Amino acid sequence: MNIRNHFPTEELQKRDAAHHLHPFSAQDDLAKKGSKIITSAQGVYVFDSNGEQILDAMAGLWCVNIGYGREELAQAAERQMRELPYYNTFFQTTHIPAIDLSEKLAQLAPRDLNHVFYAGSGSEANDTNIRIVRQYWASLGYSEKNIIISRKNAYHGSTLGGASLGGMSAMHKQGGLPIPDVHHINQPDWWAEGGELNPEEFGLARARELEEAIIELGENRVAAFIAEPVQGAGGVIVPPDTYWPEIQRICDKYEIILIADEVICGFGRTGNWFGSQTMNIRPDIMTIAKGLSSGYQPIGGSIVTKKIADVIGKDEFNHGYTYSSHPVAAAVALANLNIIESEGIIDRVRNDTAPYLATKWATLADHPMVGEAKIVGMMGSIALTPNKTNRARFLAPSGTVGYICRERCFANNLIMRHVGDRMIISPPLIIDKEQIDILIERAWKSLDEGMSNVKEKKLWESAPI
Ligand SMILES: *Cc1c(COP(=O)(O)O)cnc(C)c1O
Repeated sequence: MNIRNHFPTEELQKRDAAHHLHPFSAQDDLAKKGSKIITSAQGVYVFDSNGEQILDAMAGLWCVNIGYGREELAQAAERQMRELPYYNTFFQTTHIPAIDLSEKLAQLAPRDLNHVFYAGSGSEANDTNIRIVRQYWASLGYSEKNIIISRKNAYHGSTLGGASLGGMSAMHKQGGLPIPDVHHINQPDWWAEGGELNPEEFGLARARELEEAIIELGENRVAAFIAEPVQGAGGVIVPPDTYWPEIQRICDKYEIILIADEVICGFGRTGNWFGSQTMNIRPDIMTIAKGLSSGYQPIGGSIVTKKIADVIGKDEFNHGYTYSSHPVAAAVALANLNIIESEGIIDRVRNDTAPYLATKWATLADHPMVGEAKIVGMMGSIALTPNKTNRARFLAPSGTVGYICRERCFANNLIMRHVGDRMIISPPLIIDKEQIDILIERAWKSLDEGMSNVKEKKLWESAPI
């Protein structure tokens, strides 16, 4: 039990509903139900206002890579706040946390990705990327080269730029998005969209849509391609092995800028420092956020190659945020990277805990409601289905069954998310084997309960193919 001295849950819920608008939520439904109030956290566990200890298999929002409760980060923030709580880097000034963090990131990032522009979040960093690639081509005399190709069901953030790059139709509908000169090709989700092709054929076919789009839009118009090495918010979609090599070939052939959105995949999530290393690709720009500070401070950024930095460096770059390279955020990010490095967290993930999790995760595919179980490093997904022999969808609208399972997870003190009818995890990288066993046990129990619930509600029915 971990109940702190605070107002009763119901009263806190009422006050929350009275004045707080929640992101990605239906406010009225949430108000009726009452938000879960998280009061504290330690390691891989969060505690709610009723004193429940909940295994956070999402690491917050994919970000708390080193786990909760690390004193060193609190100390780094306190030290920096006392010394220099804020200063900007706009007007010929800089500060030590920005210098130290940039040097560290340049050292960690592959190849000549060694210049960093900071933002307060992943969304802002992707807005920055739009400006960087357009300024890059304009500086070289190709100002008409400004189309960015992305993918349906990609997630690149929630600002107008980020949401435009993203391929979430519900977000596009909301406000006349995407902005002009963003084009979306199909995603490499074999389970849902592979049809009669085998995964390898399908991966190639989906990658070749990039080449088709470049030809159709005009080579002289296409500036960049952006993608997550492994799609996260889209449902942890692991592309077939044939996909990324073909994408890389096409980017090389047409000399377009490859932007790897590493906001989730970066900082150990896939078992390497960056997802690009796991997928064996050579991006020109990497978007970073989330695990950069393990979520302890809001900070994001764009790491670009020396070549890009040199080109955009020739003119004034008319872009920046008040909180670009915020000293407290930068100091905390640096302390976080030092912990990841000095404690060998990524090696342990790659060689020990992720292989263990992968073996356990694969057993979920034996559950009668689970089709494929996919996992890379510490990000995994399972597809829910009423008939695994033909990859059937449920007849009920996508997300109905996923939501039921997610509710069962919550009831069993496991935080797992659903994306449509896929269930996903992205636990803190410090999760140990005993905690992995608990995760799998609770997931299995929640699937069992979810399945009974689905059958009781007469939702166990396949959509026509
Ligand atoms: C979360 C996310 C973003 C947006 O980051 P915010 O910090 O929420 O703005 C961008 N890209 C990817 C791949 C993400 O997962």
